[in-house]
Amino acid sequence: MRPPDRFDVLVIGSGASGLAAAVAAERAGANVALATKGSIQANNSSKAQGGIQAAFADDDSPELHAADVMRSSHETADPRLVEILTGDARSAIHWLEELGCAFTREDGGYRLARCGGASRRRLLQVGDRTGHAITKALRDAHEGGNALTFPDHALAALEPTASGWRASFEVKNGDPVAIDAGTVVLAAGGRCFAEAKRRQELSTNHPNATGEVTGIALDLGAEARDLDALQYHPNGGAWPVTMQGYSIPETTRAYGAVLLNANGEEFTDSLGLRDVVSQAIFDEVTAGRGVETEDGRPAVYLDTTRIPEADADISLPYMLRRYRGAGIDPLTEPLLTYPVLHYQNGGLVIDEHAETTLEGLYACGEIAGGTHGRNRMMGNSLLECVVFGRRAGRAASEKASV
Ligand SMILES: Cc1cc2nc3c(=O)[nH]c(=O)nc-3n(C[C@H](O)[C@H](O)[C@H](O)COP(=O)(O)OP(=O)(O)OC[C@H]3O[C@@H](n4cnc5c(N)ncnc54)[C@H](O)[C@@H]3O)c2cc1C
Repeated sequence: MRPPDRFDVLVIGSGASGLAAAVAAERAGANVALATKGSIQANNSSKAQGGIQAAFADDDSPELHAADVMRSSHETADPRLVEILTGDARSAIHWLEELGCAFTREDGGYRLARCGGASRRRLLQVGDRTGHAITKALRDAHEGGNALTFPDHALAALEPTASGWRASFEVKNGDPVAIDAGTVVLAAGGRCFAEAKRRQELSTNHPNATGEVTGIALDLGAEARDLDALQYHPNGGAWPVTMQGYSIPETTRAYGAVLLNANGEEFTDSLGLRDVVSQAIFDEVTAGRGVETEDGRPAVYLDTTRIPEADADISLPYMLRRYRGAGIDPLTEPLLTYPVLHYQNGGLVIDEHAETTLEGLYACGEIAGGTHGRNRMMGNSLLECVVFGRRAGRAASEKASV
């Protein structure tokens, strides 16, 4: 192993949270390294479609947003983190705009949709490639700065040193390396790909969502919460085969699609809480009112024919392209859908600066817990990545300079 490089701040992971942390730390004056398991583009954040929440509507406020988060979490979220999430939301959006992310606009304002569990229209979108647009803006800012990127570096171990941390990496097609840093930001995402594989189920997640970094932090003694609370996305694609595991954006339901059983009956509030809607689908199928795909999988209908074409063209063009490419036009026939493993609700315990219970070790994005409690609302994960990624980067930079 060659002698370790030394940085002020080391960020692990290149999703929205890691990129936000790296950009914020660098802009705060730190000498930053970002190491990530695959290519810099390989992450869940880039796959996010539907949107990002922020209270911009005239009848909305950060307080109403916070109340929706608490209710959706069944009052299990950490109110302190929820207040920060919703309170920082507008400035997080403006920051992304400064970095070049252009949200879809209409009538002089943002195009806003109402997502499941929300009392107001609050979901900003970039068509239905919102995660792609946000990560591109963050990636451009990161690559335009002085921070170094180490792709194909998988964190294998982390140990405290007299002046911070030493991180050891397995390197694809290379020898293991170590990197020393004053502070470390863990932004390595969740574990739903690995968990789905273990359960022999489908997942919406990128294959890099395997969760070993959480394990490394737990072994060091970091505290975690709600790690058992994994979220099913209500609308996994069930048919055709090429769409299995695809997450049909919740914006389909925001723009009028409804869930129907085999008898054509609406059996649940299609804009209800995610866990409630998923459970209603499971229950409907168990009660024998579901339908079966051609390869024998359980499903119900998502009647997307109710979505006005103009809304679909603006807010669902990628979904339309994917399904039409697979031989189904969602505007003329309903889709077959079934819940699919999607998101790790819990994670490492953090404070308002995204510091874990171990000093100098930060966590942001899906690897952190508390912000969503045991049931996340759509659109709050990308927001969490930006809000707490920025906070983590700034705080890690400040602590590293002491
Ligand atoms: C299909 C899909 C659609 C979604 N739609 C939305 C949406 O519309 N709105 C919303 O708010 N949320 C959405 N989500 C959820 C949201 O996108 C993710 O929860 C969020 O982007 C996670 O960001 P992150 O930075 O925490 O992790 P990720 O984006 O998953 O990034 C984790 C990074 O860590 C790296 N990594 C992992 N292990 C290691 C290791 N050992 N060493 C080094 N690096 C490692 C990975 O390679 C990756 O670069 C969606 C998720 C999916 C999968």
